[in-house]
Amino acid sequence: MPSTATAGAAYPDSWYAATRDAAPTRPPLAGSEEADVVVVGGGFAGLHTARLLAQRGRRAVLLERRRIGWGASGRNGGFVGPGYAERSGALIDRLGEDHARRLYAQSQRGTAIVRAAIDDLQRPDLLMGTAKITVSRTDQGPDFADRTRRLAERLGASFEPWDTARVRAVLSTTRYHQAIHDPTSFHVHPLNLALALAADIERLGGVVHEDSDAIALDRDGAGWRVRTPGGAVTARAVVLAGNADLGPVQKRLAAAVLPVATYVAVTAKLGPALAEAIRWRGAISDTRRAGDYYRVVDGDRLLWGGRITTDTREPPRLRAMMKRDILSVYPQLGDVAIDYAWPGLMGYAPHRMPQVGEVEPGLWICSAFGGHGVAQTAAGADVVAAGIAGEDDRWTMFRPFGTAWAGGPFGKVATQLVYWRLQASDWWDETRQAQNAERLRT
Ligand SMILES: Cc1cc2nc3c(=O)[nH]c(=O)nc-3n(C[C@H](O)[C@H](O)[C@H](O)COP(=O)(O)OP(=O)(O)OC[C@H]3O[C@@H](n4cnc5c(N)ncnc54)[C@H](O)[C@@H]3O)c2cc1C
Repeated sequence: MPSTATAGAAYPDSWYAATRDAAPTRPPLAGSEEADVVVVGGGFAGLHTARLLAQRGRRAVLLERRRIGWGASGRNGGFVGPGYAERSGALIDRLGEDHARRLYAQSQRGTAIVRAAIDDLQRPDLLMGTAKITVSRTDQGPDFADRTRRLAERLGASFEPWDTARVRAVLSTTRYHQAIHDPTSFHVHPLNLALALAADIERLGGVVHEDSDAIALDRDGAGWRVRTPGGAVTARAVVLAGNADLGPVQKRLAAAVLPVATYVAVTAKLGPALAEAIRWRGAISDTRRAGDYYRVVDGDRLLWGGRITTDTREPPRLRAMMKRDILSVYPQLGDVAIDYAWPGLMGYAPHRMPQVGEVEPGLWICSAFGGHGVAQTAAGADVVAAGIAGEDDRWTMFRPFGTAWAGGPFGKVATQLVYWRLQASDWWDETRQAQNAERLRT
């Protein structure tokens, strides 16, 4: 049984940690256990997988190296919505419309699973707002609305175009032009959602061990054995859901995911100035590759995320950096105080799509969700759980996205160069458009 103490290893300092629910510390794995499925990783990918299996009556044992939701799942922007880190248009080009449409539908299903979990857990407080707009920092031209509607139709999506006037009616900044509005998205308190999912796994008969680093994985007859420093679990199936930091337990799969850092800050309470600048209670992100994403939380605080880098060390002047980013869009907020700022690691495969499926008999992976994972982990977990339970092989829709090596330190350099090039082209598009607009004015 879990103890009822809330302490244990501290969560990294964040607004989420400061507002987290009391939760038990779960004992580390000690000795030998047997399970139907052992899940490595206590982020959303592992939690949804274990919960969906426990709902099917499977005995799931989940091993988490630190605390539940300690990784990306407990420190992200909290946006939940369909789509993937890879752009939908690129998926249509690569896989054709039918396949891209099925993948998109699975991400919609992931969104619905998260929404249903909030209802089932009777935790309406986890839902912090609905809908999302994705704003463009360059003018998308007169055919934007038609293009957006056509893409939505091809994908079976519910998003719709907003023109610039509509965007500026809710956001007081001239930085933005048109937007895509998705009424099916919503935003959550991710750490409390993770903690609630863990508690539900236990209610359903599953077992959760914290402070349990899976360090070795071996075949054991027809199944597998996963070892931690304190014990071992044998099971017919293993699901590796370790994201950017799987470690030595399966070196080849660990090398297939590149850690990319991104940051979140939460301001002090800003009072009415925030409501004057942002009159929208849904989530907001911009379309750049390393764009800003933000939302209003706690009535009048701004939660602001942004930047990406393959340098995973925390920048020394993170608060100042985030403040600069906020003021570059909303200078009217003035001298905003940053109460919290923290880094997080996203796990990216070179193809920017998740790695989901069975890689060897009984060995499953559910990982690499990149910057789009809160709903997508549930989408991946859904097909993995159905595959393990022998219900269907929907997981094969993710087969085109393999587990090829992400390149170790060389991959980092290559990825950073790609991001710099993409950031430079975003910057160039914006600058050129601003110069053209200036020329037209004079
Ligand atoms: C700052 C930030 C902002 C983001 N914003 C959003 C957003 O707004 N919306 C969105 O959809 N996505 C967002 N993302 C992405 C999203 O958070 C992730 O894609 C998602 O949470 C990944 O979940 P996961 O379970 O795969 O990984 P994680 O949450 O990282 O969980 C993996 C867990 O596995 C554990 N682990 C790893 N290896 C082992 C091992 N060998 N043994 C035991 N345990 C192990 C780790 O300790 C960790 O807790 C953001 C990410 C970051 C970092």
